[in-house]
Amino acid sequence: MKVVIIGGVAGGASTAARLRRLDENAEIIILEKGDEVSYANCGLPYHIGGVIPRRDALLVQTPEKLHAALNIDVRVRSEVVAIDAAAKSITVRRHDGETYAETWDKLVLCPGGVPIRPATPGDTHPKIFTLQNVADMDRIKRQVDADARRAVIIGGGFIGVEVAESLRGRGMHVDLVEKQGHILPFLDVEMAHELEAHMLRHGVRIHLNNSVHEFHSDGDGIACELSRGERLRADFVVSAIGVRPSTALAQSAGIALGPRGGIRVDEHMRTSHPDIYAAGDAVEVRDLVTGAAALVPLAGPANRQGRVVADNIAGRPSRFAPVQGTSIIKVFDMTAGCTGASERRLLQDGIAYRKIYVHPSGHAGYYPGTAAMHLKLLVEPKAGKLLGAQVVGFDGVDKRIDVLAVALRAGLTVYDLEELELAYAPPYGSAKDPVNMAGFVAANLLRGDAPHWYAEQYPEQTAGSLLLDVRSESEYARWRIPGSLNIPHTRLRANLDLLPRDKPLLVYCRTGFRSYLALRILKQAGFASVATLSGGALTFSALHEKLSLGFRLNPEEAHGNETLVELVEASGRVFDLDVRGLHCPGPIEALQGKLADIGVGDEVVISASDPVFLSHLPCWCSSYGHWLLDTRHIGADVQARIRKGAAM
Ligand SMILES: Cc1cc2nc3c(=O)[nH]c(=O)nc-3n(C[C@H](O)[C@H](O)[C@H](O)COP(=O)(O)OP(=O)(O)OC[C@H]3O[C@@H](n4cnc5c(N)ncnc54)[C@H](O)[C@@H]3O)c2cc1C
Repeated sequence: MKVVIIGGVAGGASTAARLRRLDENAEIIILEKGDEVSYANCGLPYHIGGVIPRRDALLVQTPEKLHAALNIDVRVRSEVVAIDAAAKSITVRRHDGETYAETWDKLVLCPGGVPIRPATPGDTHPKIFTLQNVADMDRIKRQVDADARRAVIIGGGFIGVEVAESLRGRGMHVDLVEKQGHILPFLDVEMAHELEAHMLRHGVRIHLNNSVHEFHSDGDGIACELSRGERLRADFVVSAIGVRPSTALAQSAGIALGPRGGIRVDEHMRTSHPDIYAAGDAVEVRDLVTGAAALVPLAGPANRQGRVVADNIAGRPSRFAPVQGTSIIKVFDMTAGCTGASERRLLQDGIAYRKIYVHPSGHAGYYPGTAAMHLKLLVEPKAGKLLGAQVVGFDGVDKRIDVLAVALRAGLTVYDLEELELAYAPPYGSAKDPVNMAGFVAANLLRGDAPHWYAEQYPEQTAGSLLLDVRSESEYARWRIPGSLNIPHTRLRANLDLLPRDKPLLVYCRTGFRSYLALRILKQAGFASVATLSGGALTFSALHEKLSLGFRLNPEEAHGNETLVELVEASGRVFDLDVRGLHCPGPIEALQGKLADIGVGDEVVISASDPVFLSHLPCWCSSYGHWLLDTRHIGADVQARIRKGAAM
């Protein structure tokens, strides 16, 4: 049997390797139009950034190694330009321009995706790059190595964000332009917010709800005219606005495409032609949650599909299961992961759901090096089966999203999450793991023990209710939802007579925990209509950015209280304050206490482990008349230097 595979990276190389393990006698040929096979395209951004210093570390295999180990005939710089499905032959164009015909018994299409070009005037400018393969990476890296100073990234998806981080790592000025209202479209808007703030803290200027309507030359570089009026000048542009399935060959051979424009395959990865299979970014898959056809250009599905193709060619009728789109990304020191459907997708597809947010620490709060994570769970309203999950944070995000991915795949419910027994020691987790916490909160909601209200209901749907803030007075003084009444939860029992019984009570705190305690007090005291704000002020301020504490500062404004506060002369006295292990608002409260004890012009160098502290600090300093001199990341910790102002 002669098997010809078009495309020699994730899907193609997996097919070939698995097939050889199953069939020692098959003749296996890989045709790859690029210079390399089986390279690590997921690592490309990190070589540009210097995190992976050795280029050859990305070149996982060579044609010679594949031949020696697996007896595979790998032909690079060999592009398949035509398929004759009836005659079972293909036309191959070699790099020298010569063409030849090759026959096959089974053909496997693994041509991947094609980067989408911006389609705006000037989009063929030679300083616009895409990042798809090793040659693209080399082109971009040459620019950076040649001292390019400024780059514009178009598109805030996986590749755009990874490239932005990598170029910042090389000290470049980076502007990221995103057409939608938030980066990383696999997340819902409120979940992306802290990541955007974090990118801003790391000096990436983000232009949301914006696009480039024209590119043109600007000296040696390129200028991007934004739809909202700004002009961005750069040494080069990286266009990362997505990929579409590479289907031209398949289409010309009469192979059927699906509704999303990818190659249609059955569960055995067979196309509409009985002897032609396909795998990877070029094919359409079935979505596990919605049941709809989907394009999921990820390495995991491509590799697993390759195995299924090989199985079926070798006579084992294995099946490719529907996909749930589990994915993860590093954004400087943060991580974001998702699995299953987003809320936006469920709304679009008209699928009923309930949702909860929790903000537990990545591991025990008293053990250094953790911070609150943002975890969102979407579940079926009745049975409580998982429909989707998103996790954003600094530590422990990867394992939570993977546990939730397994739970979703296994059809577990929120009641199962309550019972999961997960590994715990203080450096790794909590006795009640974030996954258990999400289960408790979601189960409380579904059982009717704790009705929720949501940030997006404010202000229209909250009018006529009493907003009850049960945080401490000092927290309330720093930030509150306008129009709310403050009764700290510890004083609630003694002050029940201050609350109306004829209005709904909408309770909130910072994360949703204290408001849940308050809700239980109020319910048992006979208040009929009480709900707790899901995700608390953290989720609320992520959504209502205007009310949030300085989350939207541009990097150049991050130390910008010079316009608001007159700089006082330094006294020369500097105090260290170590608040590592405290979560926000703990660090701000400790700083406030310290500043109260020292003189005007004295300085505090504060070390904290909750990186969110740095989001709040610029605005807090401005409000209280202090001078924020410096902020920095030291390993997993953050440090800031503040001079006490005169306006305390
Ligand atoms: C920069 C980058 C980072 C990524 N990071 C991640 C990540 O972190 N996690 C993740 O899950 N996924 C990631 N992905 C996506 C992942 O790499 C892809 O989903 C996966 O590689 C798809 O496999 P594939 O075999 O379908 O296509 P590819 O791996 O793209 O391989 C297709 C190959 O086919 C060749 N080809 C196309 N047409 C022809 C032809 N006519 N003749 C001969 N050869 C042809 C192409 O040259 C290409 O080498 C990333 C992708 C990129 C580009």
